[in-house]
Amino acid sequence: MEISYEPLELRVRNTLNIAHEGFSDDVFHNVLVRLEHEGVTGLGESAPFFIYGENQRTVLAALETLAPVVRKAGDPWRAERLVEELDRALGRNWSAKAAVEMALYDLQGKLCEKPLHCMLGLRAKDTPLSNFTLYLDGTEALHDQLRLVADWPVLKIKLGGPNDLEVMDLVRSEAPRAVVRVDANAAWEPRQALEMIRILVDYEVEFVEQPLPAGDIDGMKWLHSRSPLPVIADESCLRLEDVPQLCGRFDGINIKLTKCGGIRHALKMIACARALGLKVMLGCMVESSISLSAAGQISPLADYLDLDGNTLLEQDPFVGMKFDRCRLTLPAEPGLGVRPAG
Ligand SMILES: [Mg+2]
Repeated sequence: MEISYEPLELRVRNTLNIAHEGFSDDVFHNVLVRLEHEGVTGLGESAPFFIYGENQRTVLAALETLAPVVRKAGDPWRAERLVEELDRALGRNWSAKAAVEMALYDLQGKLCEKPLHCMLGLRAKDTPLSNFTLYLDGTEALHDQLRLVADWPVLKIKLGGPNDLEVMDLVRSEAPRAVVRVDANAAWEPRQALEMIRILVDYEVEFVEQPLPAGDIDGMKWLHSRSPLPVIADESCLRLEDVPQLCGRFDGINIKLTKCGGIRHALKMIACARALGLKVMLGCMVESSISLSAAGQISPLADYLDLDGNTLLEQDPFVGMKFDRCRLTLPAEPGLGVRPAG
């Protein structure tokens, strides 16, 4: 197998604002990975995020280290072994390793001419609806955005800003029938979170994602035992080893390929969550159709989906899984089912 990689710059239509230390950006610096074997090319994507300790520069450096391991592996059918070897060659760098594994699965699917979800024994029609996410863009921009999506079935609202209740009033007045989820992105303290969640019940919110800072596990135990709404771990749940301690502190986990190291790790997290009675959400970062279609391939296993990351892009350089008013259509093409746009 041969491996190559290059920066993949993704510009979003509107600047994204979330509650993490004033995070605001309009270009996302991802990395495209290609694996080639016998004239067939598999595509993968890394979507590094600074709060998880990675960026485009660290991903490119990690791929320099991982490339000889991939070349030496030779055979694309030794996925389990190769994933172990990648983990041994380099600790952490989960987003870089996820991209290699994604490309490997794409390659395998193309070699045997089957979509990955078929190879995993999953049916495309079992994919649940995905939410569409609205960001902290100020009430005026939010109002404009809400007008476009008011009749979409599932919305996720980023809270943790200075005017959360104003935002919720606006959401419910514009989208009275939508299922509404809230993501606080670790913005609240325990008592403030409980107070907010009690208020959010009146807005018929379905669940609240990551109300407290990632490491506040004690705070989550306190909050979980009192919360009238389900709470889902995102920043508190990166990889498989995090899952057991979240039981009794959260009702579910948000798995992202870029956090956990790829599809194989994600499948293990899903199995662990199910054994512990936790709900499973699959999420994304700002990503092209490559990463989103990879997550889409295992989406029939999830209870909740947040796979809208490419709808935010000015232009997605790839075509794959379709997002239409929260309904996802998995590609019928082999592997991840992704090809360059245009
Ligand atoms: Mg989140």
